[in-house]
Amino acid sequence: MPVNGPQSSLPLLRVHQLSLSFHNQQHAVDRVTFNLAGGKILGLVGASGAGKSSIARAILRLLEPDAGSILLNGENIFNMGPGQLKEARRRIQIVFQEPSASLSPRRTVAQTLLEPLRHFDIGDTDYRQKKIRQTLQTVGLSHDVLPRYPHQFSSGQQQRIAIARALVSNPELLIADEAVSALDVSVQAQILQLIQSLQKEYGIAFLFISHDLAVIRQIADEVAVMYRGQLLEHSPADTFFSRPAHPYSKALLSYARFESTPGLPSSGEPGDRSSACVYADRCTVKITACEQLEPEYHKIQHKEGPHCVKCHLYDEARSNG
Ligand code: SF4
Repeated sequence: MPVNGPQSSLPLLRVHQLSLSFHNQQHAVDRVTFNLAGGKILGLVGASGAGKSSIARAILRLLEPDAGSILLNGENIFNMGPGQLKEARRRIQIVFQEPSASLSPRRTVAQTLLEPLRHFDIGDTDYRQKKIRQTLQTVGLSHDVLPRYPHQFSSGQQQRIAIARALVSNPELLIADEAVSALDVSVQAQILQLIQSLQKEYGIAFLFISHDLAVIRQIADEVAVMYRGQLLEHSPADTFFSRPAHPYSKALLSYARFESTPGLPSSGEPGDRSSACVYADRCTVKITACEQLEPEYHKIQHKEGPHCVKCHLYDEARSNG
């Protein structure tokens, strides 16, 4: 069972002032901070290129940051030695968008599920055999599938196998990186149901990355919105969907409802960085301060929980500018 229940004061995951850049893209992730409590689902929303998957890769320490830290139960993963990092990678698993690409076509289901148990030195032969059968049952598959290969399954079944592979080592956090985006609607609903049952029954936390607000609405406890590498808004999911605060969030929700909104960016590609607000070149409600000063994070108090927004409109000293 996870060591961080929802009652714990220490977040399971803390991403603090994380910045990443690549040879062809500065500010791929720009000073991003958020917490994820044990057993919760945080929906990380944004267009393609906004920096969501880069954060996922940094959490797995597949990317080294320019600055900032990522704490797992208070331990910075960027300071971990090989043994500690291996254990952190057991506790944090990832499920990708395309199950057919993430599963080896030459491995049977049994080989696929045994591999993490061997890699992390978990259990003896008997334990491993029991564990893979039990895990298949958890994801709704029978043990009859064990000798079969990925091409013998539908995409929904393949994604269940990929989830089973992620679960078999008893992780506390699953990163779902567009994990239902390639599935048709009915299969998507089944996988979302599975994720919710894993959260409820096993207390697993999810960083659920998606560009699809309808999916996020079904599943997330909290929502964080990314745009061009920056986190612009973070709030409880109910608050986000009933009272979005940031102009970009409002545009996203309006687009989701009406499929057409002036100023909605089609992607998170780097834009005009001469403005102090990263969204200023598309914002329809900008004020004088937006071109001169970078907005800070402002907290809006709601009874549902903290609601943070990075916009001058919530800065009383400047909103009349
Ligand atoms: S800071 Fe200004 S430009 Fe940026 S989102 Fe807010 S109002 Fe728009």
